Amino acid sequence: MALSFTLEAQDSSTAARAGRLETAHGDVLTPAFMPVGTAGSVKTLSPDEVAAAGADIVLANTYHLYLRPGVEVVRAMGGLHRFMGWPNAILTDSGGFQVMSLAELRQVSDRGVEFRSHLDGSRHVIGPEEAIRIQDGLGADIAMSFDELVELPAEPDVVREAVDRTLLWARRGLAERERLRAEGRGAMALFGINQGGTDARERARSFDTLGQMPFDGYALGGLWVGERRSLSLEMVEHDCARFPADKPRYLMGVGHPRDMIEAVARGVDMMDCVLPTRNARRGTVFISTGRLVVKNAAYATDERPLDPDCDCPTCRRFSRAYIRHLFATNELLGPRLASVHAVHHAVRLMRDARAAVVTGGFEAFRRRFTERFGSGETLTPSREPDRHGRPAAMTGTRKESHHDVE
Ligand SMILES: [Zn+2]
Repeated sequence: MALSFTLEAQDSSTAARAGRLETAHGDVLTPAFMPVGTAGSVKTLSPDEVAAAGADIVLANTYHLYLRPGVEVVRAMGGLHRFMGWPNAILTDSGGFQVMSLAELRQVSDRGVEFRSHLDGSRHVIGPEEAIRIQDGLGADIAMSFDELVELPAEPDVVREAVDRTLLWARRGLAERERLRAEGRGAMALFGINQGGTDARERARSFDTLGQMPFDGYALGGLWVGERRSLSLEMVEHDCARFPADKPRYLMGVGHPRDMIEAVARGVDMMDCVLPTRNARRGTVFISTGRLVVKNAAYATDERPLDPDCDCPTCRRFSRAYIRHLFATNELLGPRLASVHAVHHAVRLMRDARAAVVTGGFEAFRRRFTERFGSGETLTPSREPDRHGRPAAMTGTRKESHHDVE
C-alpha cells in the first residue's frame, strides 16, 4: 500500500502545514515528533505510555535490530509491530547513519558499506538493496533509502561524491522495492534522502535528480551534525521550497523545541531525535519555559511539577523534589518519570503547532512559544543567578549529537 498524505491546512504567513499520513497502522498527524525506539523500545517506556503521550508513530533503528535480534527473529515473531507490542506506525531508518557512526573498519564503495559490528566485530555488508530488504523484513510502515552521510565540514568534492552515491543508492533502493513488490512483499512506503551538507547548490543539484524518483516522501539529511543552527535552518528552507507540496517532508535528527518550531515554520512535517529522551534519562528535561536540570540541588524542596504547564502523568502527580530525589538515589523511576514527560512534551509541542496551523494562528503561536521558552521563568525557586545573570538551572550547553542512537 502506498502511503497516502493529505494536506489539511497551510499557514498563510509561514510555510507551516498540517497534514495526515495514512499508514497500514493508523494515521499520523503532522507536524509529528517521532520518539526514537532504537532497539525496538523507547527507552524506559511501555508502548502504552508512548501512545498515551500522543505519539502515533515511532522510529526504530535498522542497524541495531539487524545486529540484534536479527531480521529473521523479528520476522518469525510476526514483524516489529507485534514483536514490540506497538500497534501504531513505525518508521525505520536505513541504517546508513549508524553504520557510519558506530561500526568499525568501514569501507564505503558503490556496492555499499562493509563494516564490523560494534558488538562483536563480525563482518557485514549493507548496501541499498540490503537496507530495503532488512526494513521490509522488519515490517516498517515507512522505510528510508540508504544514504551516505559526510561529516561536516567537508571538501566540496567529498560532498559531491556522497551526493552522487546517495542518488545511485536511491535508485537501486527503489528498484529493490519494486522487485520485492513483484514477489508480493515491499508494501512499505519509501522516503528518499536529500543530501549536500550545507551547500545550497549541492542540495539543489541533489534534489534535481532525487525529486524525479517516485519516492513516497522526502527527507532532509546531513543537517544538525555540528554546523551553525542558522545555516541548518537556511538549508531547511531551501530544501522545503523545492520539495513537492503533496508529499511528506522529514527532517532527520532534530528535537530541540526551538529547532522543531522553526523547522515547522519552514514546512517540515516530521522529525525525530534522541535528545529529549536521552537528556531526560540523565535528569534534564525541556519544559515550556526552557531547559530544566531537575537533578540540580536547587529543586530539593521544590513542590512544583517539572512543567507547571504540562498535563502529562508525571507532571500531574510528582514534584520536582521527588524526581530530583529519585535521580540522587539512582532509582529507576527517575529516568522513567522524566522520559514520560519528555515524550509527552515533544509530541504535544508538535500537536499544538498543528492546531495553530489549522486555526490560522501559527505565527502568534510561534511568537508565544519563543518568548516563553526563552523566559526561564519557574526554572529556579530561590537560587542566585549565575555570574552571567542566568538562572542556575538554565546553564549548560546543548552540545550533543542529536543523531546518535540511544
Ligand atoms: Zn510533563
